[in-house]
Amino acid sequence: MPRPGTFIADGAVLVVNQRIVRLGQAGEISGSFPNAARIHQEDCLLMPGLINAHCHLELTALSSLCPRPGTVDFIDWILSVITAKKKAPEKLFKDGLAAGQQLLLESGTTCVGDYHSPQWFQTDDAPRNQIRAVHFLEIISREESLEQDRQPELLESCLVHESRQDSLVQVGIAPHSPYTVSLPLLGQLITMAEKHRLPLSMHLGESAAESRFFRDGRGPIATKLYPFVGWQDFPPPAYGKDSIDTLLQENLLRCLSAVHLGTARSDQLKEFARLAVKPILCPRSNHTLGNPLPDLEAMLNSGLAPALGTDSLASVDSLSLWDEMRFLRQNFPDLPAEIILTMATVNGAAALGLQDVGQLAPECQADMIAVQLRAPRQIPSLDELIEHTDIQDIRMVMVGGKIEKSATGIP
Ligand SMILES: [Zn+2]
Repeated sequence: MPRPGTFIADGAVLVVNQRIVRLGQAGEISGSFPNAARIHQEDCLLMPGLINAHCHLELTALSSLCPRPGTVDFIDWILSVITAKKKAPEKLFKDGLAAGQQLLLESGTTCVGDYHSPQWFQTDDAPRNQIRAVHFLEIISREESLEQDRQPELLESCLVHESRQDSLVQVGIAPHSPYTVSLPLLGQLITMAEKHRLPLSMHLGESAAESRFFRDGRGPIATKLYPFVGWQDFPPPAYGKDSIDTLLQENLLRCLSAVHLGTARSDQLKEFARLAVKPILCPRSNHTLGNPLPDLEAMLNSGLAPALGTDSLASVDSLSLWDEMRFLRQNFPDLPAEIILTMATVNGAAALGLQDVGQLAPECQADMIAVQLRAPRQIPSLDELIEHTDIQDIRMVMVGGKIEKSATGIP
């Protein structure tokens, strides 16, 4: 299945080094390249590896913070994450980065957009990358400019690092949210991303609390979060309009991948389409934390191409995109399976600014998975594929031409 919904029966993919060179029928490819080594996947669907466009792998060990759906106030949950991040030993986060990658690989995800706190960003301390990733430097600061913060050096050094690092990893910038980064700083980060052609990702429109804080400067962000982190003296924004309208007005949505968008209205989504904003949806996380689910129908009607992410184990009970896709099917029953799979592959690549992943095509990276079919030798139903696929059905995972999981275990 080179892309969701297109099939080649008895297909084969020819890989040279890290990339796909040719696709076609197995007989034709092995006839043309008789000396090529073969990896045979009996009764499997070979498809692009899944792309998890939003994650915080460093929080993998904080799964005890994940509440039962609807039992926690969103801002209280943020306070519990901040407390845990302060208290927990560094090893916990480092181990989480490695364990999270394994969980992604096992479930057939070959690429991730991952927010990293500054201490884990491009350091030699971080575990080796087995998965393709865009590491987004997460920035949280109420300062008005980069110069007042220590982050400019960090940003510049990571840009220098980029060319020397593991080719599986690219870097990006993640202003955490409109209420945790000042708008002047957000403007500078956008300019920096434009200048260096870096992907830019931000949580946006996640909660009613965020909308309220921008409208009138009140609510739990003002009364709980700001005092908790010592920001009580920063003046509340009180723009008289929600965060999304404010950023639209200030022209602060350029080249952005926007995570969540549960509060976005259809008129705002139309503007997003005009500005080429790329939505990244994490519906299970929204559900757990009592936040609104996005208006997916309005997004698709506006011509947007939403991607899919899981968020971290602090707000969902698995890092499997199959679970995320199943949740979408349950909550948006009219949504075609082909669109859901496109969200988890092709659209994920676009949201991360990666041109050569998300599909099987010549010159693309050889990032692919083999999924065991329940009814072999038939074109699979995509509805059933989403309904039934789980970790044990992922027979092989290849990232950049290297096998990271096979049916006999991870080599
Ligand atoms: Zn997140």
